[in-house]
Amino acid sequence: MYYNQETIIYNNGAFDKATNTTTDLYGQTLHYGYGVFEGIRAYNTPNGVKVFKAIEHYERLKNSCELINIPFHFDIQELIEATYKVLEQNNITDGYIRPLVYCDPNMALSTPTKVNIMICAWQWGAYLGDKLLHISISSYCRPHPKSTKIEAKACGNYINSILATTEAKNKGFDEALLLDSDGFLAEGPGANLFFEKNGKLYTPKLGNILPGITRATVLEICKNLNIEVIQDNFLPEDLLKAASAFYCGTAAEIIGFSAIDAYTFPLEWEFSLGKKIKDEYLQLVKQ
Ligand code: PMP
Repeated sequence: MYYNQETIIYNNGAFDKATNTTTDLYGQTLHYGYGVFEGIRAYNTPNGVKVFKAIEHYERLKNSCELINIPFHFDIQELIEATYKVLEQNNITDGYIRPLVYCDPNMALSTPTKVNIMICAWQWGAYLGDKLLHISISSYCRPHPKSTKIEAKACGNYINSILATTEAKNKGFDEALLLDSDGFLAEGPGANLFFEKNGKLYTPKLGNILPGITRATVLEICKNLNIEVIQDNFLPEDLLKAASAFYCGTAAEIIGFSAIDAYTFPLEWEFSLGKKIKDEYLQLVKQ
């Protein structure tokens, strides 16, 4: 699904077949989850293939590394050029791009000896599908920002996401919603949350969540559309009084909720602010 015999990836400055590329089983990233990644999308636009918010994603990759003390010695412009080349060499016009910063063997719990980067890409539809989601509030909370760098897109942080998604799916739901360790609404396992009430949008403020690039884009769209957005700490009860709600993320794009546990959102998605924003978003990425 992700690669075949022909797939080309970028690895430490060189382009090679995915099937020729190996990694070290003693690597620090594999053993301790001590690595950083990004999730980016490219879209086919009237002006050719465009990587959406490429600079923002690679800046976040750099920032994530710096937050967790992984030296980042790569040039962002070169990485963006490599990204376009990977897309071109694999004939991908609409696709998902996954850069991964990974570390050489180091069994000590200290900063890495050598840091590597790979970039791969594949065709991927909207990650959470295109049907409205039935969400469940997770028994897992997001990691406390004093126990890890929650604003870093660090590999190890995703154990929490996998646990939450697996729990939700095992209970028959489409996806989880996690609270933070103080019981406030936080985010999805791989997406940020917005909800609508009385014609305004609400979203958890930064601090205990990943600063999503799609979240920032939604805020920009709202500014242009004169939609008021309130960023603060909210409780699950606030969401259970909302008219509608949605997740946003690079992989998921924008996807509405039908219900959260036993609560069905009363406003039809077609008439929600989320739908309006989704339409704008899908236009923006293809510009
Ligand atoms: N929260 C988490 C935990 C995520 O993994 C993601 C996906 N990167 C997001 C939010 C959304 O971020 P973005 O819009 O930058 O993809």
